[in-house]
Amino acid sequence: MRVSASAGGRRGFYADDAGRGAPRRGRRGLPLSKKVKGAGSVRRRVGAEAAVKAARIQVILDSLYPEPAIPLEHADPFTLLVAVVLSAQTTDKKVNQVTPALFAAAPTPEALARLSVAEIAAFIREVGLAPQKARALHGLAERLVNEHGSRVPATFEQLVQLPGVGRKTANVVLSQAFGQPAFPVDTHIHRLAARWGLSRGRTPDHTEQDLRRLFPEAAWNRLHLQIIYFGREYCPALRHDLGACPICSWAATKQRIADERRRGAGSQRARG
Ligand code: SF4
Repeated sequence: MRVSASAGGRRGFYADDAGRGAPRRGRRGLPLSKKVKGAGSVRRRVGAEAAVKAARIQVILDSLYPEPAIPLEHADPFTLLVAVVLSAQTTDKKVNQVTPALFAAAPTPEALARLSVAEIAAFIREVGLAPQKARALHGLAERLVNEHGSRVPATFEQLVQLPGVGRKTANVVLSQAFGQPAFPVDTHIHRLAARWGLSRGRTPDHTEQDLRRLFPEAAWNRLHLQIIYFGREYCPALRHDLGACPICSWAATKQRIADERRRGAGSQRARG
């Protein structure tokens, strides 16, 4: 199992899952092969122009990040699943700081299920949303022990039934732990796909459908990492020059370029 040396990051790699974006409790998880409800016609929303852009973007990302590694320390599918659940709304650095002690005390689902919620919370207290995550991890461990023979299930449908596991977390585990083609989309990828004109999806789930259509299946597992690395390295939080960007300089929609110019002019007026 690959463990990345790159543990830093100004924000969590999988910043917004922990069940968010997942089907609501009680609903069945969406099989990968099915459209996301409400996505409409992907074909209608993703045109030929987007396909050309996607191919060019893939070449750029492959050259920038030929072998992207997942930045969350883990040893097996179970520890990866726990780390991804913990990574919601926190930095990878923080997750990687707390998981060594947690995994030393609870390297298996059985051991984690034996800990109380309070004990788990004590291990992860420096991570955001620690009380909710401690409850989710305890419930998740119990479900793995009682329903899956203490193993992480390797199907999307089973993964999204686990506490704290949303569509994106399930896709991360499928792609990184089991090598199955999956395209996890968080808010960062969702936003970049819109900026690059690859999707007009209203939600990350809709965007996932578009990206799966645009990029070859063999590239999905590395593309979601590459796009996140790109966002971290190139996309500052504040307004900036699209012309200096390796991708937006040619891929941004005319509408967005006009919007950015307007905003830039507005902020200059405000400063002056
Ligand atoms: S223009 Fe800015 S936001 Fe767009 S991809 Fe480039 S760096 Fe990121």
